[in-house]
Formats: sequence, structure tokens, C-alpha cells
Amino acid sequence: MNLLKRRRLIWLLSIAAVAAALGATTVLRYQGILLPVRVASGSMADSLLGPHRSLECKDCGFTFCFGLDLEVPLDLATCPNCGYARNDSTRATLHEGDRVLIDRWAYAFSAPARGDVVAFCDPTNNSELAVKRIMGLPSERIEIAHGEIFTNGTLYRKRLVEAMQVATLVYDDANRPHQEGKLAARWASDEQETGWRALNGGYAWTPPSPDNTRLDWLTYRHWRCYTSPTPRMEETPIADNDAYNQGLSRELHEVTDLILSCKVTTPSESEITLMLHDGRESFTAMISTITQSVELRRGERFLTRAALAELREPRARSTQFGIVDQQLLIAVEGKPLIRCEYTPLDKPLQPTSRPIGIAARGGECAVTEIRVYRDIYYLNAFGGSTTWSCSAPIPAETYLVLGDNSPISRDSRHWNSPGLHRNLFVGKVLGLRR
Ligand SMILES: [Zn+2]
Repeated sequence: MNLLKRRRLIWLLSIAAVAAALGATTVLRYQGILLPVRVASGSMADSLLGPHRSLECKDCGFTFCFGLDLEVPLDLATCPNCGYARNDSTRATLHEGDRVLIDRWAYAFSAPARGDVVAFCDPTNNSELAVKRIMGLPSERIEIAHGEIFTNGTLYRKRLVEAMQVATLVYDDANRPHQEGKLAARWASDEQETGWRALNGGYAWTPPSPDNTRLDWLTYRHWRCYTSPTPRMEETPIADNDAYNQGLSRELHEVTDLILSCKVTTPSESEITLMLHDGRESFTAMISTITQSVELRRGERFLTRAALAELREPRARSTQFGIVDQQLLIAVEGKPLIRCEYTPLDKPLQPTSRPIGIAARGGECAVTEIRVYRDIYYLNAFGGSTTWSCSAPIPAETYLVLGDNSPISRDSRHWNSPGLHRNLFVGKVLGLRR
């Protein structure tokens, strides 16, 4: 949240607090500014949750939420983090929908922007209040294909912060399955002689031999983390399954837009290389204390470099490396460092079950708090991967709105006229989960 937004939020919350202190009558008078509402459906999960249950996985301890929009088959919930499929959903804690505030003045002096989450009177549902994200602007022609949004025929490329707002957590290494002794490790080395060793919360690396010039790789293996007749440890490419829609039977799609998030500690002269595979080729981001920089490569080919100051300080730096919307994105300590668009190779997509790696070379180093995320995968109106598009450009003062939870959301994709006139907006939604 930038400073301006934070100040505005503090100002609005101050008004709400004052209004609350003055009593209920006054609050009613101030509803013109901030309107508190409770989210009623899961169409914006995981940004906003409707009535839902939360449950801690019996195997890995990961806490996941699933909506009441759908029944859980046989009362058994599958953990999205480890794939354990025998979590008793009747033990889950029941929650009401998220409480949010609607800022009714948000668009008094500025136009709605793509990515804003807005509340509106749903023209297709008796003007009930609904909440969705703006993804199409006036005069644009919007198309959904291969899980992506195209505006006027051009792929919409999100910034890293936007991508993280709609990303789904695929694997959090803080929650390793307890049965991992019987199963293959999710992060592991294939080398006979490796310097990687698992710690609580991450992996430390020490040079395995004095002659240490090769990259020593730790590789992520993806398992099937959804209900399936095959064993969960069977390796498979990452798909667009999600925990929130437990019980929804639908076609899944392989996702190659991924973000690796971790903390990197490089106390001595060392290099840590992060690798992502886009289903056609691999890209690397090398963080080097020797050159004090992060260097981006496509295969062996150098692409670009960004300086990183004080890299030898012995502290953990949060680092994100993503391939999202045909661009390479790197941020360190929350600061965007590299955004590099590219054209994918002209060959068939072949997603791998091992699309992410971390390699070390040089002196001791460590990588902790490792999380893997996948990009949002938009579906057409009928849930499949085929193309959806609005038949004409969006009229003036009108916006296309989509739910983040594409498999169950009822939104612009389903309306005869997909645009939503600005007059139907109630305001901008504050208090999202991320
Ligand atoms: Zn689990």
C-alpha cells in the first residue's frame, strides 16, 4: 500500500472511529462515506472469503479455508499444500464472510482503475450488493484465453504486486508433510554430493568440497494436491486447483506462471541462483555477493542486471522471482528490481513437475521461508480453457468486472451485456486479505 493510499485509509478509518464513538444514529448519517458489509459468497476468494470453514491439515499442519458454497464430498477435505485427502471437514471451524468497508467517495475525484475491487448493485440479481475486481475499462475489448486477460488483443501484464494480490499459494515449505519420511521431499537435491541440508524453516548450504565451482541444485517437485484416485506423491505439473472450492468437479489446467518467494542470506562470498521454467525453457536470477547484483539469464544468455547494495550483510532478504504474463519479475525486500518482458519460444508447451530450483556456489548461504505461488487462471464463462470475449468494445463509463475465484464466480462473463455502468458502483472495497 503506498503512502497516499495508507493516509487515505487512516483518514477514512478515523472518520469511522469517530462516527462509532458518537453513536449508532451518527453512524447511519456517515454511511455515505464508509459502508460496512459482510461478504456473502466465495466469488472473490482468496482476496475476500464468503462464509467458510478453516481446517488444519492433519499431515502438514497447513491451515486452509473452503467455502460453504459447495458441499465437501464424504466430509473429507484435501490439503492444497501436501495433498493429504483425509482431513475430516466436520472438525473445521465455521466462519462468517469477511467484513469489509466500502469507500463510497473513492471515485468522486478519480476514475476506477483496473485491479480495483468494487462493490456494486448486481443488475442480474435483483440489485443485490456484489463485489468483484475491475478487469476491463471503457472502450476496451476484453478476451480471456489460456487463463490470461487480453485487452484490445494485447496480453495484460500485471506488475509483481498485482500478481501477488491474485496469486494462489501452491506450497509453503514451513508446512512439510509429517509423512515426508515415507514420501519424497518436495525440495531436494539430486546430487550424490550436496551441500544442502534441511533446517527448520529452510535450507542451509555449505560447500561440499574445497573445489567448489559447480552449481549445487535444490529442486522443487510438485505433487498432485487435489482429490484424485492416484497417489498424491505422484509428480505432476502445477495446476489451477484451489482449496476453497472443495468438492467442485471440473477440468484442471496446467499453470506455468509461477512466483518463488524466499529469504536469502549470503554472509560470505557466494552466489544463489533461482531458476524458473516456463514450460518451454528455463530462466535464472543469480544473486551474487561478488558482483553485488542480481543477474537475469534466459538459458545461458545474459538478459539484464540490477545492483544490490550491502548484500554481504548477514541478514535474510526477502526475494521474489516470478514468470508471470510473459515477463520476468524480480523484487528484493519488497522493492521491484527487474521487470523484463519476453516472447516465449515458438514450440509446444510442456510443463514440468520440477519447474523451480535454487542453486548455491561459493561460500556458505541459506534460503528460508520458501513459498511457491501460481498466477490466477481465468476461465471462460463455462469453466473451460477455450476463449471467451466480449462481442463489442466496452461502452463509455462502463467496466468489465470479474471474480478472482474464476471457477465459481458469476460475473461479466455470464451477463448478456458484460459491462457494468459506473452508476451501479457503490464504492471501492477496503480491507482485502492481501
Ligand atoms: Zn497438508
